[in-house]
Amino acid sequence: MMGTRGLLVVLVSGGGPVSLTFSLNLAMMMGERVKIIIYEARWFVDERGNVRWLDKQQKKTRRNQVVILQDHVIQQFPENIQKGLFKTIDERVWPTSRNISIREVEDRLFELLEPFTASGQVELICEQLDEQSKHLVEGNFDVLVGADGSNSFVRRYCNIQMISEGIEYACGVGYDVPEDISPSDQTLHQALNCILSASQTRYMVSSSLSCQGYLYIRLGKNEYEALRQCLQKVQNRDEPLDLPNRTKWPQSPILSIIREGLKFFNINEKFISRIAPIEINVRHASVVIRELRSEINLKEPKKVLAFLVGDAAMNVHFWPGRGMNSGMKAAMALARNIQRSYIANILPHRQENHSSLPFLDFLDYESFMARLRAREQQGRSLRILASPIDLTLKGVPINPYPNYSYEEHREQLKKKLIDTREEFQGLPDWPHKTRSVTDTELEDVFNRIDWHTVTKLALANAWPTREMNGVEVLVEDMFPINQRSCLSLPKSAHKKHLTRQPTIASRRRFRILWIDGDTINESTQELIATIRASPEFVDLSSMLAQGSVQSYSSSVNILNKLDVFPTTISALNWIRENRKTIDEPDIRVKVIIRWPLHENKELVDVIRNIRTQVSRVPILVYTNEYEDTQMAFEFPSVIITNTTNDLYEFVGINQETQWDDDCAMSQEEQTPVKVVEVTHSKPGKNGRPKVCLVGIDIFTGNRYEDIRLAADKIQVPHIIKQDYLVEDITNDNSVTLFNEETYEFHNEIKLNKDSNIAGPLLDKFKEDIGQIKITVLKALGEEQIIAFKVIE
Ligand SMILES: Cc1cc2nc3c(=O)[nH]c(=O)nc-3n(C[C@H](O)[C@H](O)[C@H](O)COP(=O)(O)OP(=O)(O)OC[C@H]3O[C@@H](n4cnc5c(N)ncnc54)[C@H](O)[C@@H]3O)c2cc1C
Repeated sequence: MMGTRGLLVVLVSGGGPVSLTFSLNLAMMMGERVKIIIYEARWFVDERGNVRWLDKQQKKTRRNQVVILQDHVIQQFPENIQKGLFKTIDERVWPTSRNISIREVEDRLFELLEPFTASGQVELICEQLDEQSKHLVEGNFDVLVGADGSNSFVRRYCNIQMISEGIEYACGVGYDVPEDISPSDQTLHQALNCILSASQTRYMVSSSLSCQGYLYIRLGKNEYEALRQCLQKVQNRDEPLDLPNRTKWPQSPILSIIREGLKFFNINEKFISRIAPIEINVRHASVVIRELRSEINLKEPKKVLAFLVGDAAMNVHFWPGRGMNSGMKAAMALARNIQRSYIANILPHRQENHSSLPFLDFLDYESFMARLRAREQQGRSLRILASPIDLTLKGVPINPYPNYSYEEHREQLKKKLIDTREEFQGLPDWPHKTRSVTDTELEDVFNRIDWHTVTKLALANAWPTREMNGVEVLVEDMFPINQRSCLSLPKSAHKKHLTRQPTIASRRRFRILWIDGDTINESTQELIATIRASPEFVDLSSMLAQGSVQSYSSSVNILNKLDVFPTTISALNWIRENRKTIDEPDIRVKVIIRWPLHENKELVDVIRNIRTQVSRVPILVYTNEYEDTQMAFEFPSVIITNTTNDLYEFVGINQETQWDDDCAMSQEEQTPVKVVEVTHSKPGKNGRPKVCLVGIDIFTGNRYEDIRLAADKIQVPHIIKQDYLVEDITNDNSVTLFNEETYEFHNEIKLNKDSNIAGPLLDKFKEDIGQIKITVLKALGEEQIIAFKVIE
């Protein structure tokens, strides 16, 4: 149902670059006929009532990655957005595009949205959208837009699956070079950054004004794992990141790869601000539109259209630099499709208040997204995935002093650099026409990097530029509009000044209703016990009886609760009797149904019955019987699963984790042990079951005992066994190792004199009768030689 006199209410999840692009375009095209409500978790309301981005002061990190925005995308923006976007920084680095940081895009678009927020046409809500957010519960909107990034909530809410095309790994090294530095510390000119980046496929620099940006490094899977382990050990000690400090950042092949990349682009290690491992999952949503059924008012059922846009709909490989460009195109296409459908269907009937946007009108958006996917994923990202960096590195020779091949590879790399320079400088739209790059500048590269890097870069596969080229998918082709007649800013006479209260972080308590037939089987009982025993849940009744509630709740501070019901009717009765409790503002009700319930009812009827009492309550159906349950997919916020992980995530004891630059690593001393004995002990005072664990240290053989709560999470160490060839053993028993798979020298390992194999290994090395292969065991940063054999 449309709002008053045909007002279209659009609810947007996420306030990133794509959401802001969508909202600006839609607000300008539809004027006061649209009301846009944006939820964004990274905003807050300050003491003056202004909405701002959470930043350093609030202990959050804004995104400084620099993206390359293509001219053909920008030109499809209304003129005022084009001007506003590049108001502060207007830098051309690559042909036909401009470099700009994600932070800058967000700040400028946010600024451009200001007149619409001031007029009340756009409302900003500084919260994460979830199943129980006010607008989703009340259902007073017509369109739901998921512009909430690659971990989209709306996608989950609409039961839309992701299809993965392949995964690659990389590392992002952020740097920030101050202005007043000595000439030797100065970074390269952007013309050189482009030539060096385009002449090989291992390293790439994407920066703003040459001084702030990211060095990206494509990694093999092993290198990526090595980086993660290395970062785990040394990152986030509440001190500034200090790469030049060799004691904090020990020598290791992965750090050598990073250091060589920095040298290649002449970036001094002391200016590094962060290092992040990146997993690039090239994937897309199976559909980008879904029609949702609303159960707010059963007499007058309402259908709502939900859309995915930006990273929520499609993730591309960032190497060709098209993620934000594609997201912005999709945002404009969706805004135009909504406006077109509104004009055709709502405007003529706006007094009737009954019409809605028809699903079929949006097949254009679905097909626009299919074309975009074909261009960006199949046409660009998959070309890169098809030639992984691992394959390239296989050919790198082992010999560290290959004078002949070094000269050969040096010439090869030099030729690549010169060819790229000639190609770029011959382009009509090369932005650095007045700054030609000299041979000496290219030669300098060889004074900075070592022989091994020269060889790797010389052999690195070429950019599949020809394969990646092709006709661009343009919004204009499918959704042409006359910008002059369509686009407008709000009239100043309508300006309202909104007063907002400063943000107070709200805490929510979950009331979980578990419906599970008359007899609860053993495995379900265990699941329920695990949830109830987790730190997020407190069994108040048993603790009240023991008089321990006060002390416990003050330390844990969370009071979620799970109740089990034998039938749907008993659960509904409970809801009726406890209406006051569930209507409390901080209470969020969720329902779990263990299906089948054997109540002679279809699952859809059970869902309907529950939602008549608690509208839009999130429901998880825990089942192995998928055939019976397919109809339930029509409902929003219904998850059908048989995995305990989904179940724990639903009740909030196993949140999905995302890599976050700011995440603190544990400083606790840890020892890798093999658990050899587990005994269960009786529940303690607070009624929570415990287990006693006995473990043997895998390196020293020491025995450890520990008592934990049954629901505690215990980290499992990543244990790696790897074979190496012994290159040398020095007088102080340092063993130099060589990895035959990666063609890398490994860190030296100190041979433990007291170990059983030290004597025999040294004897065989002295005998010098063949190559020695050793096996190294590695866990939690510790390494130990555990076996060796001689290859004749
Ligand atoms: C290393 C790297 C380099 C890149 N380089 C380029 C490049 O050169 N060119 C290019 O075009 N693209 C590039 N990209 C891709 C580009 O950054 C993304 O495609 C773009 O940021 C996607 O925008 P978005 O708004 O869809 O998602 P996001 O930028 O992820 O924004 C989503 C927003 O939604 C919010 N949110 C999430 N869940 C909720 C919720 N439940 N409720 C409320 N808010 C929520 C988040 O806080 C976030 O602000 C790069 C990406 C990376 C990682």
